[in-house]
Amino acid sequence: MSNMDQIVTTDIFINGEARAASGGRTYDLYNPARPKELVGHAAAASVEDVDEAVRAAHAAFPAWAALGWEERADRLREIAKALTADEDDVKYRSRLFTREHGKIARETLLEMSRLGDRFMLAAAFGERMSKDEVMGPAGAGPQFDTIITRQPRGVAALIVPWNWPLSILGAKLPQALVTGNTVVVKPAQNSAMAPVLTLQIIAKMLPPGVLNVVSGLSSEIGDALVGHPLVRKVNFTGSVPVGRHIMKLAADNLTPVTLELGGNDAALVLDDAELNDEVFEKMYWGAFASSGQICMALKRLYVHESRYDEVVDGLTAACERAVVGDGLIPETTMGPVNNVQQLKVVTDMLAEARGKGADVKELGQVPDGDLYRGGGYFQKPALIYNPDPSLSVVREEQFGPCLPILKFATDDEAIAKANDSEFGLCSSVWTPDADRAVKLARQLEAGYTYLNGHGPMAQDSRGPFGGFKNSGIGRNLGYEGLEAFAASHTITGPAGFLV
Ligand code: NAD
Repeated sequence: MSNMDQIVTTDIFINGEARAASGGRTYDLYNPARPKELVGHAAAASVEDVDEAVRAAHAAFPAWAALGWEERADRLREIAKALTADEDDVKYRSRLFTREHGKIARETLLEMSRLGDRFMLAAAFGERMSKDEVMGPAGAGPQFDTIITRQPRGVAALIVPWNWPLSILGAKLPQALVTGNTVVVKPAQNSAMAPVLTLQIIAKMLPPGVLNVVSGLSSEIGDALVGHPLVRKVNFTGSVPVGRHIMKLAADNLTPVTLELGGNDAALVLDDAELNDEVFEKMYWGAFASSGQICMALKRLYVHESRYDEVVDGLTAACERAVVGDGLIPETTMGPVNNVQQLKVVTDMLAEARGKGADVKELGQVPDGDLYRGGGYFQKPALIYNPDPSLSVVREEQFGPCLPILKFATDDEAIAKANDSEFGLCSSVWTPDADRAVKLARQLEAGYTYLNGHGPMAQDSRGPFGGFKNSGIGRNLGYEGLEAFAASHTITGPAGFLV
C-alpha cells in the first residue's frame, strides 16, 4: 500500500466551509477490486445538513445571479485551470477514484480533464444566454415593444450517479453556475470521495454558498433534497426507477426536472462498413470502457448479415486482449464492476442467456497472482453471439461488460430493431456513406447518434445530450443544457417605449 492510500475521510461543504456531517456521521467505502479493503469514510449528511446547504445556496443566489455572465464565465475558466493545476493532487485524486470506483487510471484522468473542458464550454455558451431578444412593433393588431430575457431559477439540486461522476457533473454543474444559479450537489454513494475532493476545489473558488456538497445515504437525504421547497430545479442522472420517483416528488412543489436515465444503445453496422482492427478497438471501447458501466455505452450491436462473421472475429479478438483486474495495476485494461449488486445483474443475465441456449463467451484474462486475488468484482468481457432478442441481455440495460451481437438484413429492419426498446439514449451508425448515415440517424429514436464511433470518446460535448422514451426528459450539455437552468421572462411595453 502506498502512503497515498491511507484511509481518507471526506467532508460535506456548506456555505464556503468543509466540515463533518452533523453528529460526525460517516459511511464506509470499500475497494471493488479488493472488497475487504477500506478506502475511506465519506460524510453522511443529515436532513438538517441538507436543509442548511439549500438555505446557504438560497442566500447566495441574489448576489451570484446579479454578477454579469462575463464574471461568472471568468470564474469558470479559472476553475477549469485549477482542476488540473497541481499534478500531485491530480495523481492523488485519480488513485483514490480508482480505489473507490474500480475504473482504470486512464479513465479517471479522462474524467478529470473532461470536467475542466466542460467548464470551458459552458463559459463559452454563457454569452449567448445573456443576450436578450428584442422585438419592436410588427404585424397587425395591438403593437408592442418586447424584451425576452432568460433568468436563473435559483437553487439547483444536482444528483449524479457513481459510474462517471465527474464527466456527468461537467454536463450540469458549470451550466447551472454560468447561468446564475446556486447549487447543492449530492454525489453518488458508491463514488463520493474523489468527486467530493474535486468539488471542494471548485467550491473554494466561488463565493460562499454558491456551491454546496452533501454526500450521504440517498435513503436518508435524497427525498429531503429533491422535495425541499427552496429548490427551484432538480437535475438528476441515474436509473429509471429513481428518476420516476424524483419526478413524482418534484411534482409536489412543481419543481422542474431534467432526468438523464438509463440506456440500451444500439449500434448499426451497415453492409458497407469499414472494418479493421482500429474499428474493432473503437467498438470494443465503446462497449467495454469502465467495464461497460456507462449510460452511453454500446449495449446492442446489430450487424448486417453479410458482415456478421467479420465483426464477430474482430470483436472477439479485441475482447481476448482484455486484462481484467485492479485498476491501479498498469497492465489492467478493465477494472472490476463497481459493486456486487451490479455484478449480479450481469452474471444473472449471462446465466439466463446460457440457460436458454445462447452462445456466450467470456473472453480476456484475469491474471493469476496476489494482486488479482482480492475477491474483486471482476467480470471478463462477454459476447453473446446472435442471441434470441427476447433475452434480458438484449432488452434490458446490462450496465456491465457484456454485449449481444445480432444480425439484420435491411436498413429498415435495422432501424426497427434498434427502436424496439423502452430506452432511447444514444445510438450509432457505422458506414463510410455520410448521406446514408444521416438518413438512418434521423430515424433512430435516440437523443444522440454517433457516426463510426460510440460512447464518451466519440461524443462532441457541444451537442445537447439526453434521451427519448424511458431514457429521460430534457437535455444536458450544449446550449440547451444552459437553457434548462433558466426561465424566460418577457417584458412588454407599448410600441415606442422600449425599442
Ligand atoms: P441510481 O438511480 O441508483 O442513483 C443515482 C443517484 O441518485 C445517486 O446519487 C443516488 O444516491 C441518488 N438517489 C437515489 N435515490 C434517491 C432519492 N430518493 N432522492 C434523491 N437522490 C437519490 O443510479 P446509479 O446506480 O448510481 O447509476 C446507474 C444508472 O444511471 C444506470 O441506469 C445508467 O444508465 C444511469 N446513467 C444515466 C446517464 C445519462 O446521462 N443518461 C449517465 C450515467 C448513468
